[in-house]
Amino acid sequence: KPKKHLGQHFLNDRNIASKIVDSLSYHPYDLVLEVGPGMGVLTQFLLQKQVKVYVAEIDKESVDYLKINYPQLEKNIVGDFLKLEFDELCSDNFAVIGNFPYNISSQIVFKILENKHKIPEMVGMFQKEVAERIAAQKGNKTYGILSVFTQAYYNVEYLFTVHENVFTPPPKVKSAVIRLIRYRDNIEGVEDEFFLKLIKAGFNQRRKTLRNALKVLSIPPSLESHGFLNLRAEQLSVDDFIDLARLWNSK
Ligand code: SAM
Repeated sequence: KPKKHLGQHFLNDRNIASKIVDSLSYHPYDLVLEVGPGMGVLTQFLLQKQVKVYVAEIDKESVDYLKINYPQLEKNIVGDFLKLEFDELCSDNFAVIGNFPYNISSQIVFKILENKHKIPEMVGMFQKEVAERIAAQKGNKTYGILSVFTQAYYNVEYLFTVHENVFTPPPKVKSAVIRLIRYRDNIEGVEDEFFLKLIKAGFNQRRKTLRNALKVLSIPPSLESHGFLNLRAEQLSVDDFIDLARLWNSK
């Protein structure tokens, strides 16, 4: 019986499952890590690929089911993705895939971003609204922290929308599959933590100009008259944010 508090909505369409797995581009990784395999609807297709598969599943009942039905996975099942120490995987180069539990979807994205030096690619199913937020460009209503922080390192592709009736039980909202392909794992001259702080400060007060929103970080005097500061966070592209962060650091 699906457990609501674990975000369990099981995909019951094999064609969509295989389409999700085929959306991984199979760069030369060591390993693919699946988050939340449940009863293995995606896993069965992953296991057909020439790649080592690990799965992170928090639900004991699902783990028991996987062990019985996919005995070859036995040693490669780990628990809570959010607590996972990636050292356990013995890989510095792995892809992440999953039909993610929606209650923790932004935490999953942030964990991937924290470990981006190890993760060249991700294919994941999210609530449509979250997928749109990650993919949003400047000028879009949902453009925000998640969009800028993800797109600073990954190319985001919105692959396809998935209707609620292919899940058991059906969720209240539509879903969507996106793919992230890393194009850099750090921004030269800018610390990740600072970059995130800057984006957060900007978007946490999205109605204010950056001059006001960024006051909390004390704007360096050399930047006081910069045109960016007359704008609101949502008016800056990802590249603008990167320029701003670099200027800030080279004060
Ligand atoms: N992959 C299956 C499918 O497509 O039918 C299940 C998807 S379901 C939306 C999300 C899965 O994530 C559930 O199996 C749930 O138990 C698992 N899950 C929830 N929280 C988790 C966590 N913190 N770490 C790992 N798995 C988790």
